[in-house]
Amino acid sequence: MTITYELGKSLYVNITNRCSNACTFCIRKDEPTINGTDDLWLEKEPTKEEILEDILKRDLSKYKELVFCGYGEPSYRLDEICEIAKEVKKKHPIPTRINTNGHGNLIFKKDMTPCLKDAIDTVSISLNAKNKEEYNALCRPVFEDAYDALLEFARLAGRYAKVILTIVDILPEEDQEACRRVSNSVGAELRIRSYID
Ligand code: SF4
Repeated sequence: MTITYELGKSLYVNITNRCSNACTFCIRKDEPTINGTDDLWLEKEPTKEEILEDILKRDLSKYKELVFCGYGEPSYRLDEICEIAKEVKKKHPIPTRINTNGHGNLIFKKDMTPCLKDAIDTVSISLNAKNKEEYNALCRPVFEDAYDALLEFARLAGRYAKVILTIVDILPEEDQEACRRVSNSVGAELRIRSYID
């Protein structure tokens, strides 16, 4: 079972396979891996203790960042992620990031962003689209107001961490600009990722 794996210069943590989206572009149904080696389908979700042990047995000085993600949506376990990140930071001053769809507050039915404080340095949220209609068509969320909720999550998370909203570069330029305005409206920066990534 792969709990942690290397990608580029970072160490990634595979927290869960659950997800509150069913994105049309999701590669999970066809690919068991994103780094070419590690199978990211979990036999069972690792416990908090197992995750911490797996992280700490690595030489963390080798990595530029510790990234909580999943082959799924990590914020299903946001409370545990923040606890793990705090424990890791006590031992190693490594920057931390969570890659999320921003549904954490919908999943927990409350504002979870205060738990990011002193735990997560960067929150990277997939924005994917310039409005809720396009988001719903592309990401097919289980939650009705997912787009508005992810923007509110971004705004609230900005009190505790650097927040980046992301899109891919295949969007038309005018849509990219619209996404930039949406991001800036909640105090976040927009990052445009290469689709190949
Ligand atoms: S949010 Fe990520 S894991 Fe979930 S369906 Fe979309 S691409 Fe796949």
